[in-house]
This record gives sequence, structure tokens and C-alpha cells, in this order.
Amino acid sequence: MTTVEALLKKAGLPRRESELLLLSVLDQDRAWLFAHGDAPLAEENQRAFAHLVRRRRAKEPIAYILGEREFWSLPLRVTPEVLIPRPDTEVLVEWGATLLGKTPGGSCLDLGTGSGAIALALKHEYPDCSITGVDASAGALSVARCNGQRLGLQVEWLQGSWFEPVSDRRFNLVVSNPPYIRDDDTHLKSGDLPSEPAVALRGGTDGLDSIRHIIEGGQAALSAGGGLLIEHGWDQGAAVRELMQRHAWQAVETRRDLAGHERVTYGCRP
Ligand code: GLN
Repeated sequence: MTTVEALLKKAGLPRRESELLLLSVLDQDRAWLFAHGDAPLAEENQRAFAHLVRRRRAKEPIAYILGEREFWSLPLRVTPEVLIPRPDTEVLVEWGATLLGKTPGGSCLDLGTGSGAIALALKHEYPDCSITGVDASAGALSVARCNGQRLGLQVEWLQGSWFEPVSDRRFNLVVSNPPYIRDDDTHLKSGDLPSEPAVALRGGTDGLDSIRHIIEGGQAALSAGGGLLIEHGWDQGAAVRELMQRHAWQAVETRRDLAGHERVTYGCRP
């Protein structure tokens, strides 16, 4: 009789990963595992687990196999149409929430919203603020829309390139986690990245193509005194501050992520 414990050992994956895969097959949570290490497993479940293990060994990201990833304590649906939300981005949400908190009932635009992670986290923090998520990809937007519905969070989702679908509107805050990885960065070939949408990752030869576009166009989308928050690579802080200063943004400042890397830069519309 194959037990839960034996099956987890045999999978040949990091323990945490095999646990997640098995729990998704059994539709159980982690607490269940502690008490059921020597429980026998139905053959049907063993087969389903073996299938997920094969996918993982073929390097498919855990988040895509499970179809879910938690961000800001919200369970988000994720598919290969969207970037997998990262803990690094919670720095941006934290900062954005502080800024939104200063404009009760204010409005916020999330550019390149993907799964809707940032937009939904901000809506969750400030339900009375109006949040708009824009993405060029129809596939990504359907994932974002589905997440909004599942979480019961009302966000406006618009399809288009960056500022295009909101060209006649002004917001109190603009936030974005745009693609910012340099085309020649070997990081693109490691971990989950090869499975993620390239348009959500690659930012051109210096990685700054989208960031430049947002910094150049951002002031027209903000009301006076409004702020822009951009996530960027660990080594792009100085370049992003310089770009913002060159385009007359004020109070430019960078904050670090949990790993201590410069990750998010702010600028204020004069
Ligand atoms: N932070 C991600 C990574 O380096 C990239 C996300 C992005 O390009 N916006 O893996």
C-alpha cells in the first residue's frame, strides 16, 4: 500500500513542491498532511499526482500547475497568459496603499496589470477608491477579470497599450510593474521565467523601454500632485531616478524590496 509519505519521498522534487502538488490533487490543506503521513492513497490520486510531478520535472512553474498563487494574502488565479506575482511587488503595493490612503475616494491606474495582482491588492486595501487596470493582452485581462469576480473586488479593466485606453483621464496615482529585464539577461533562461509571457518580462536592450514610456507619458495621466510608482530591476534604481528627474518629476525616491534591492521608484507630478 503506497502511503502519502512514501509518495512524497518518491517524487524526487523539493519537499515543499511535492506537498503542494499532492495537496492540490487531494484538495486538502497543509494541516491535513501532518496527521495523514501514513494514510494510503487511492490509485487514481497516485496517477493524478504522478502526472503533476512529470509536469513539474519538465520545469513548468508550480503556480501554473496549481493555477493559483497567493499575493498580498489574496489567492489569485494565474495562467501562462500572465506573469506570476512575486513577493518583491508587495513593496509597491505597500507604498501605493500609503499614497492612496492620503486621497480618500481617490483613483489609481495600474499599467500592465496582468493577473490584476496590484490593482486587486489596492482595491482590497481601499474599497472606496476607484481602481483601473490596463493591459494590452486580452488573455491577461480575462484572468484579471476572473480574479476580480472571485474575490468580489470591483476594478475597471481596460484593454490597450499603456495610457492609450485612458488618454482623456486623470488619476491620483499611477502604478506599474512593467517588463524591465534586459534582452541579454541570462536570468530569462532560469527558474519560472522561460514559461512566463515574454512581453511581461523583456524590456529591450537596457530593460528600460517600457519604464521610459511610462515616465515620459505619466504626468498627462495624473492630477496635480499625483504620484507615479514604478517597479524596476535591482540595478536600475539610479537610471530610473535619473529618467524621472530629467522629465521634471519631483520628490523622486527609491525603496528596497525584502531582499534589500532597490525595487520601486516614486515621482510626483508638479
Ligand atoms: N521581478 C521579475 C524577475 O526578475 C521580473 C518582473 C518584470 O519584468 N516586471 O523575475
